[in-house]
Amino acid sequence: MSSSLLHEATRIAGQFEYPAEQVQRGVAEYIKQSDEGLGKEGTTLSQIPTFVTAVPNGTEKGLYLAVDLGGTNFRVCSVLLHGDTTFSLTQSKILIPRELMASGTSKDLFLFLARQIESFLRIHHNEHFEAHQLRRQQGSNEEDLFDLGFTFSFPVRQCGINRGTLIRWTKGFNIPDAVGHDVCALLQSAIDELSLPVRVAALVNDTVGTLMARSYTSPGETGTFLGAIFGTGTNGAYVEKTKNISKLKDMKDAHFDNSTGEMIINAEWGSFDNHMSVLPTTVFDDELDADSNNPGVQMFEKRVSGMFLGEILRRALLSLHHNADLGMFKANKTSETVLPEKSMLFRQWGLDTSLLSAVEADSSKDLVDVKTALKDHLEIENPSTEECQAVKVLVHAIGKRAARLSAVPLAAILVHTNKLATDEIVDIGVDGSLVEFYPNFEGHMREALREVPQVGAAGDKKIRIGISKDGSGVGAALIALVASKDG
Ligand code: ADP
Repeated sequence: MSSSLLHEATRIAGQFEYPAEQVQRGVAEYIKQSDEGLGKEGTTLSQIPTFVTAVPNGTEKGLYLAVDLGGTNFRVCSVLLHGDTTFSLTQSKILIPRELMASGTSKDLFLFLARQIESFLRIHHNEHFEAHQLRRQQGSNEEDLFDLGFTFSFPVRQCGINRGTLIRWTKGFNIPDAVGHDVCALLQSAIDELSLPVRVAALVNDTVGTLMARSYTSPGETGTFLGAIFGTGTNGAYVEKTKNISKLKDMKDAHFDNSTGEMIINAEWGSFDNHMSVLPTTVFDDELDADSNNPGVQMFEKRVSGMFLGEILRRALLSLHHNADLGMFKANKTSETVLPEKSMLFRQWGLDTSLLSAVEADSSKDLVDVKTALKDHLEIENPSTEECQAVKVLVHAIGKRAARLSAVPLAAILVHTNKLATDEIVDIGVDGSLVEFYPNFEGHMREALREVPQVGAAGDKKIRIGISKDGSGVGAALIALVASKDG
């Protein structure tokens, strides 16, 4: 084995190259698809208007509530904005009982959520709670309600800052009677049934939360322009001129204040180029897609985000393992490796993307950390140094392609909005384990950005990228604040 193994790994790695000319084609196509998305509904890039029409500058003040329903847990938190770019956050996390996710009614689910808000208020804000109850008993009309931002990570059709109808459930939820209903109204009526001092002020998408949180915590002259997530999935939101969102005219029920002339758009870029006119592909990408539960959709996300990179690598490694000439991960003359049948290498989705970060980070001569990672993730004992090098070559290729692809929506949005021509600094907030932990993810992304002529080295220098945590906490609170000022 050895040199032929490395040779084959390098050949496969070559299939993941994504050169400058393809990045540029990707950007041109993204601009085309994003224009279509701003013009009408039902396009590949959804370009969803969020009805959030201003970004914070760090001076916002007040106490707000935020809740997050998007997976197995329900998070409730209160956020105190100090008005000086800092905040304090108190939160609780509750596991959602399985029977409420899939077999109950929407009333059961939303009453459960409202009860969690009630216990949170009783524990952390009891004075406010009791004062409200007392005023109600005395028949007072005076209201002192908490404004709440509701992060709801399921597909919704939004028609106002706190109005959005559920299109369909995903991620194991299935409560048919909620589909087609306004989820903010459902939560509000459950809250009212328990007489809680809470107003559902905003429906929040997590990328918008990321943008808002970044804009509050590190304000510049103009606020943050774009928020992006590279975690389990990938998506982004940016500030668009309202006059460019021509489909707003067709939304008869749309309701918003247009005094800023701007609105944040949730791009839903995970579905960029679902029809594969410009996205790069390999046999591993194609097979991953064919074997997934949603073939043909989220095609950009399937090449970029944490949920998929481990699976792309697993398929590439498996092809080396099955190549009889190479002897990869097989006990033979040059390697002590024995691969157990139960290894995650043989299990679909068995390989976590954190393995890629661990492998990429190891620059030691004998690749000690790669060996440890292969043992921890795949139960591979004593891999040879050549085998580790082969893994490293593939990891690097897959990770680098993902980072370079990530530059496509960023460059396209910057070019389409002409932002680099008008602003000295363009601020971008990012979140997600991939961008946070994969070594040099930002570096590869910036390299590809510079290869786009309309960005170039000069544009790259204007781009400030920072991690923005807690979009569904402080970000949602800030959207509730903006919404309460609008209303
Ligand atoms: P989410 O996007 O679900 O809110 P994260 O941002 O933590 O949460 O992303 C989770 C995804 O990131 C998973 O797909 C996981 O495989 C991947 N991941 C976790 N740790 C790392 C890491 N150290 N490097 C790269 N990817 C990681």
